[in-house]
Formats: sequence, structure tokens, C-alpha cells
Amino acid sequence: MISRESESASRIVALLNSESAAGGDALLDPDRFRAFCSALEIDQAECKVDETLLAMMRELRAVVTKCIEEPSSKSAKALENISAKAQLILRVDDKGMPMLASAAIGSASIAALFVLAIAASSRDGGWSRIRICDAPECNKAFFDSTRSRTRRWCSMSTCGNRAKVSEHRQRQGQRQGEGKVQKKGG
Ligand SMILES: [Zn+2]
Repeated sequence: MISRESESASRIVALLNSESAAGGDALLDPDRFRAFCSALEIDQAECKVDETLLAMMRELRAVVTKCIEEPSSKSAKALENISAKAQLILRVDDKGMPMLASAAIGSASIAALFVLAIAASSRDGGWSRIRICDAPECNKAFFDSTRSRTRRWCSMSTCGNRAKVSEHRQRQGQRQGEGKVQKKGG
């Protein structure tokens, strides 16, 4: 089991966070999508980035988010269905070493790279460490590298801090409320 973010986990986290990318959703616009791929060192120069690919990527993002946030048989089935488009196969090199690969061609081969990342992250343990931030207004994905696997926020300095302050205020409010009730009663 890994505790450091692997390349496959990084790709999944980046996919999940692509909606809030700088300059807007990276999966809505071909130029932004190309920039998104370059940042992940995915070579897409030969591929046509069209609406079909972008729609497939958005569907994959929505399905993976569901699988991580609230896994169910429905989200599992949806991920299985979309992964079928990636046409995962075994490629065997001339030394006889088998490797999971994709037979998808053209733009679908880009989406397939993310499905391969999911397969790799389930194998190396990264998948079970990908979380969605607990802050309701955030929803950012992050990689939980804590030993206890209990990290709740994408960042302690922003979302974590805000949540702690609000939890503290809530507790204080409750205590004050309890005090008033006691005074009334006594
Ligand atoms: Zn957050």
C-alpha cells in the first residue's frame, strides 16, 4: 500500500478538480483541455480534441466523483460502462512481460489513459486514498497521505481552518444556549 501520491492517483485527482481549473472548466473547451493534458504530461498533439471526447471526459469525471463520494451499485455500473469504451487489453512485450493497456484509438485513447490510471490506482492502493473535501462549498478532490487515512479537507489552512472555526462557534453557541435554558429553569 502506498502513502505517497502516485502518477495514477494524481491524474484522477486532477480529473476530479478539472471543473474548478484556473480559467474555468478544463473539460468544456478544447484549448483548455489541451493545457490540462500538457500539465499532466499527456501527449495529445496527435489527437483530435472534439466535443465527443470532452463529453466522455465529463461523464468519466461525474462517474468517478460519484464512485468516490457515495459508492453504490449504480455508480459502479456507470464506471464499468464507461470503462468499456477504453477497451482495456493486455499488451505483452518481447520479454513476455504483460501490461494493461488500451486498444482505443483516436481521441478515445486519451480518455482511456484516465481509465488506465483508475486501474493502476486500484492496484497500488491510491484509489482508496482519494477523497472529496468535507467543506460543502469546496468539493475539491485530494489525496489523503495520512497514516490514519482520516484527512477531511483539501487544505488545512483554508477549508480545515474554516470548518474548525465554525465547529468551535457552534459548540460555543450550544453552550450559551444551554446556559440560558438553565437560567430559565433555575
Ligand atoms: Zn476544500
